[in-house]
Amino acid sequence: MNLRAPSGPKAFIVGWPIAHSRSPLIHGFWLQQLGLSGSYEAVAIAPPDFPEFIETLAEHGFVGGNVTMPHKHKAFELCAGTTATAATLEAVNTLWLQDGALFGDNTDVEGFLAALDEDAPGWDTGAGRAVVLGAGGAARAIVYGLLQRGRRITLANRTRQRAELLAEHFGAGVDVIDWQGLPRALEGANLLVNTTSLGMKSHPPLEIDLAPLPPSAVVDDIIYFPLETELLRQARARGLRTVSGLGMLLHQAVPGFARWFGARPSITDSLRRLAEADVAKSS
Ligand code: NAP
Repeated sequence: MNLRAPSGPKAFIVGWPIAHSRSPLIHGFWLQQLGLSGSYEAVAIAPPDFPEFIETLAEHGFVGGNVTMPHKHKAFELCAGTTATAATLEAVNTLWLQDGALFGDNTDVEGFLAALDEDAPGWDTGAGRAVVLGAGGAARAIVYGLLQRGRRITLANRTRQRAELLAEHFGAGVDVIDWQGLPRALEGANLLVNTTSLGMKSHPPLEIDLAPLPPSAVVDDIIYFPLETELLRQARARGLRTVSGLGMLLHQAVPGFARWFGARPSITDSLRRLAEADVAKSS
């Protein structure tokens, strides 16, 4: 951890592991582009040490930061107050100190919806359902976002019980199906979202036949490593609109930056190119 007092506000991303994080690149780009003084650093903290790290944020000169796996739930528990979104998800990815007390938000929902709105405008019109694959931490944020936009959701997960728990958490609007039921579910879908880790680099592939999807459907894969997953490649080959995980990653970073450094940053083409090059470099 770098304990030097920087000039300007000092923010962090904490996780375990953390070396893979692209967040320092994104926030560093904005600090430079906007000509702001401040710093943003990656901090690796193991789960047993996380509460102490949080309790000593002010001592270390931090104004706030991001939280990633596996600390999002613990961070929620340690907050004095949270946004309604973070309270619903019981997970926090953005922290800030206010009058010495710790507050938290979950900007994954906003990031996911903003990327869809940008890359597939009009995706939330029409009668079709959203089919969501996966029932982990990311799925919870995504299901919440889709419900906020009035979508009805069909949820499939390898471990069905986990999907059922997620559906129960939200009450009405989410129907759970077995993985085998996907071909039928895709026939009536206008959106397919992959929130599993299948298709990510060094993970097993996601094997799914996209043929039943209507031609107007949008396919969103929140994985950004690789930049274009096999799922997105197949969707594009079928002429379907696609959304990759990079947009979500970039958009979820905006609210935290604005809070810590006092200026709302933009997602420019040069930032996208920089992030894409960085991901491609390690592919
Ligand atoms: P997580 O909580 O560990 O959930 C993993 C999900 O993948 C679960 O639904 C799990 O099913 C499923 N899965 C894993 N291995 C599988 C396999 N071999 N076969 C079938 N299903 C499998 O992880 P998460 O935090 O939700 O993250 C999921 C993915 O989203 C990751 O690739 C992550 O990088 C990406 N993500 C992207 C962003 C972004 O900003 N773009 C943000 C957050 C996450 P079970 O329940 O059966 O284990």
